[in-house]
Amino acid sequence: MTSLIQLIYISRSTFAPAELSNIIEPNVARILLKSRVNNKKNGLVGVLYFGDGCFFQCLEGTAESVDQLYETLLNDTRHKDLKILSRKSIDALSFSDWSMKHVQLEDGMIKLLKSQGLKTFDPYNFNAEMTKNALELLHSTKDVTDAVLLEDVNLQASQLDNQITQTPARQTDYKSLILYALIVLVLLGSLVIFLK
Ligand code: FAD
Repeated sequence: MTSLIQLIYISRSTFAPAELSNIIEPNVARILLKSRVNNKKNGLVGVLYFGDGCFFQCLEGTAESVDQLYETLLNDTRHKDLKILSRKSIDALSFSDWSMKHVQLEDGMIKLLKSQGLKTFDPYNFNAEMTKNALELLHSTKDVTDAVLLEDVNLQASQLDNQITQTPARQTDYKSLILYALIVLVLLGSLVIFLK
């Protein structure tokens, strides 16, 4: 029989969270789009939470699949400081409806953090009890990120990436135009002085 495990790890994002959409951070949307396709193929389920620059992810599946993904995650440059909070055998998958659930829970998480005297989402300060409570909260909260929404946020982010890469080129063109105008003015001035 294949043994199932549940792994909870935390990490810090290496990107500065963008305020592009108030529903979901674009980098997180991209990670979810990829995760949902891959996890379905690999029989993995779980939940991903992102707050105050920190990830909290629970992965469930066969020990082989979970450990293999964790090895990949260790090499992903979008996050750093990965720390395993818990790794245990389970009898059944608890996120069986989700290849990767994502929830936005400002109020619920703030309440939970407050109950532990925490002001921001800093899972590096979580003890075993807090990890369990956070996971229960993620279990009970509704996911509103369907594929259409994720694709939409991904598209907005790509358009922004394009604008960013195009801006320096436009600035260079503008500078060249001013330079050409100045050269023409100097030449015209010299011509006028010469003719006088
Ligand atoms: P591709 O998507 O083709 O990627 C190839 C390589 O490029 C990989 O090494 C990947 O890490 C890197 N890469 C891709 N996009 C970017 C980018 N925008 N910036 C930097 N590097 C990039 N994957 C899952 O399958 N399931 C999960 O549950 C899951 N959860 C994740 C949670 C977090 C917090 C993060 C940061 C990533 C997560 N990923 C997850 C992504 C995972 O790390 C790999 O990127 C992904 O599994 C690789 O998919 P692929 O083999 O189809 O390769």
